[in-house]
Amino acid sequence: TTVPQFIREAIRRRPDALAMIDAPTGRTITCAALDQQIGRAAAGLAAQGFRPGDTLLICSPNSPEWVVVALAAMAAGGSVSGANPGYTVAELAQQLRDSKARFAFTVPPLLDTVRRAAEQTGCEHFIVAGVAEAGDALPLAGLLTSNGPEPLASADPDTLALLPFSSGTTGVPKGVMLTHRAIVANVCQIVQGSEWPQGMVSLAFLPMFHAMGFVLTTLSGLAAGGTLVTLPRFEPEAFLCAIASQRVTHVIAVPPVMQFLAGHPLVSTFDLSSLQLVGSGGAPMGAALEDRVCARLKCPTVQGYGMTEVGAVLTLVDTRGALRPGSVGQVVPGTQARVVDPATGRDLPRGEAGELWFRGPQLFAGYLGNPQSTAATLTADGWIRTGDIGRIDADGFVFITDRLKELIKVNGESVAPAELEALLMTHPAIADAAVIGRPDEYTGELPVAWVVPRSELDAEVLKAWFAERVASHKRLADVVAVDTIPRNPAGKPLRRVLRARDAERME
Ligand code: ATP
Ligand code: MG
Repeated sequence: TTVPQFIREAIRRRPDALAMIDAPTGRTITCAALDQQIGRAAAGLAAQGFRPGDTLLICSPNSPEWVVVALAAMAAGGSVSGANPGYTVAELAQQLRDSKARFAFTVPPLLDTVRRAAEQTGCEHFIVAGVAEAGDALPLAGLLTSNGPEPLASADPDTLALLPFSSGTTGVPKGVMLTHRAIVANVCQIVQGSEWPQGMVSLAFLPMFHAMGFVLTTLSGLAAGGTLVTLPRFEPEAFLCAIASQRVTHVIAVPPVMQFLAGHPLVSTFDLSSLQLVGSGGAPMGAALEDRVCARLKCPTVQGYGMTEVGAVLTLVDTRGALRPGSVGQVVPGTQARVVDPATGRDLPRGEAGELWFRGPQLFAGYLGNPQSTAATLTADGWIRTGDIGRIDADGFVFITDRLKELIKVNGESVAPAELEALLMTHPAIADAAVIGRPDEYTGELPVAWVVPRSELDAEVLKAWFAERVASHKRLADVVAVDTIPRNPAGKPLRRVLRARDAERME
């Protein structure tokens, strides 16, 4: 089946239940209405010339319309590429060119940017959402008024359905080609691999232009029989208010949001007692933070792990079984895992850390227009080399240690920056930290810490404190104090940015 067929089958089973609630306006959409709107919007798109094989670029904050238009484009035989609504004209033009989108969906405040970007590309058709008000069902203006028949799209599950871009942590974002088959497989794995009760209410605040926000929160939430509360973006007060007022039961977050939940005073001023599960993924997070959120919200916390290249998810915690704080859970059903020595490609004994490789039906079809990267990432026999370092314990729980590209090589020994960062973060005078490798004539590389001090901090004293706690090859060669550590929205430190700055400093 295709993605829209699969989702519509799920929502047709409970027509009167609420599929979505838009948090800012309070608008509600039943499952029956969602099903009908997808059909009408698909017809509307086809009437405007959207054909099978076309790509619709969506540049909009999260909203019910995002979901309807995305599923409609897929139902009409096309694919969807979500763009960051904060993009500049140049960044958006790049994605329009890469994706060859002929259609773009946006909202009035972003129309000007989208138009200017489109002028430089082959994108000719704009669909603009109306301004949503409390009473409106779906302000999709022209798209829903067409009375044409719903297009009978060729339902080939091996065609492109979604074209998200990776986060660009290690380089430029890469266009990731996901077929209907891969996405439906991952949604099934997520729903079967965890316990998502019928009637769950989840907060759809992670950006839908990322795989995590769309495939995990949105599609899997609808497939599991849940209601989505859509929030345009993370904003502290609106986030807490949405949980309290809509009695949200499930939140899937990223580490910076977990930090906020653990530490921010505002959190105590809202009634969050409806929460049944809070999950985190997308970037490393220690067990300590997981425990703090759990204790403060009095609800279980779990981690999951995945990447854009697999739809969304590779491992998660099944709350019907044992929990293991600090772990990202177990491999989802129908997926094989290996831990490989990246130098030799040989399997490592259980429990040892190495590069994680996976094989399963959720894997992507390749990077858009980038056969070299595809060949470097997918093996001939169908494994994805994740580039992540991790280990799998005797019970199958996976622990992520670091990223292969970011390992620091000191005299031939690998040093994981994430490990050194975790140690730095236990120092009372350090608010934030990132560790990078600085090229060195004698040792190859040396660990250098970039830190945001909370109070007066002497570099030599810190280095000595650190040296007492680690093996000699992990000692810090230098400490650089800064105001902020550059991070992406999931909280991943942008070490490539720091490496470039470090090189400049050393010139
Ligand atoms: P790019 O591939 O463009 O450099 P990216 O890899 O950050 O960017 P995403 O696909 O959004 O882009 O992120 C996937 C990566 O996020 C994984 O490969 C892994 O490094 C990291 N990640 C995801 N979940 C976790 C987790 N629970 N713990 C640690 N790291 C995680
Ligand atoms: Mg990646």
